[in-house]
Amino acid sequence: VGALTFYFREPGELCEADRSLLRLVADQMAATAEKAHLIEDLQKANQRLRKQNVELEARYRQAEEARRLKNEFLANVSHELRTPLTAILGFAYLLREGIPGTLEGEQAAAVEKIEAAGATLMGLINDLLDLTHLRLGRTTVELEECDAVALAHAALSSVNPPTGAVEVSCELPDVPVPALTDPVIAVRILQNLLSNAFKFTAAGSVTLRLSALPAPPPSLSEQALGIDGGVVLWEVEDTGIGIEESDFDIIFDEFRQVDGSATRRYGGTGMGLALSLGLARRLGGDIAVRSTPGQGSVFTLVLPARGPAARTAPIEIRLG
Ligand code: ADP
Repeated sequence: VGALTFYFREPGELCEADRSLLRLVADQMAATAEKAHLIEDLQKANQRLRKQNVELEARYRQAEEARRLKNEFLANVSHELRTPLTAILGFAYLLREGIPGTLEGEQAAAVEKIEAAGATLMGLINDLLDLTHLRLGRTTVELEECDAVALAHAALSSVNPPTGAVEVSCELPDVPVPALTDPVIAVRILQNLLSNAFKFTAAGSVTLRLSALPAPPPSLSEQALGIDGGVVLWEVEDTGIGIEESDFDIIFDEFRQVDGSATRRYGGTGMGLALSLGLARRLGGDIAVRSTPGQGSVFTLVLPARGPAARTAPIEIRLG
């Protein structure tokens, strides 16, 4: 608040035009004072924001470091757990083979149980180790020219068949389908998808399908790089419990399950899909899901047919 005072030598010398001119001057001066105030406020707000920014950055760095340390810890613990477990499995194998002496009926059954439980535990530890390596950016990928049909067969033959009235079928081409990928990782992802399909299907069928989508006409840069842009699609279809659309995202989160309660019906850790998706993306591909609750699900793994290392844009899957 301020006052602007003008003094005149003679009274009544002020005409209407002078009065409005002086009002204009007063208004301008008031506006300037207000602007100065605003600038001061802005500078203070700016300073506060800058301070908050510095604090946030420090907290972010702390959180990042804690995350890295947790991942390092998980990687070390998983690694240390694997060593004694390998010994347990090795000695159980020697016992089963009767190398230290022949086992009697009950003894052989007990050793088989040790081996089975040990193998399950090893699977969990390996998943944890791989997930941690993925998060630390340490997963190595070795690309090779592979036959996608052979990868499908390899995955199918290495997963325990479903129990109960579930029919397993394949719809695979008779001719080889080329894919440039890491065969060990691709088989691992397919094993995960197949074992989930077996686990969540009590009756009906599980079908493994394979198709190749030809490339759209290549862009000039793709031509120059020799990328044809084609993709290979493996589909694992089941007639199991299905998944609500609202759960499609959470099932790919680490350690998340649709039914995460302690009383849930199906075993598992919630690592399989997070790991599979991370690995598929590491190979330049993706995983998509479509499902109807109570009717079944289809999980689709899509990987580049050629040149994933040189691919710049992610693969887009259009289903249905
Ligand atoms: P896990 O199977 O060890 O629980 P995953 O990450 O493989 O972990 O799967 C996460 C969740 O996604 C499962 O717990 C289940 O709720 C859901 N899910 C995965 N595959 C299927 C499927 N084929 N049918 C129904 N639900 C599924």
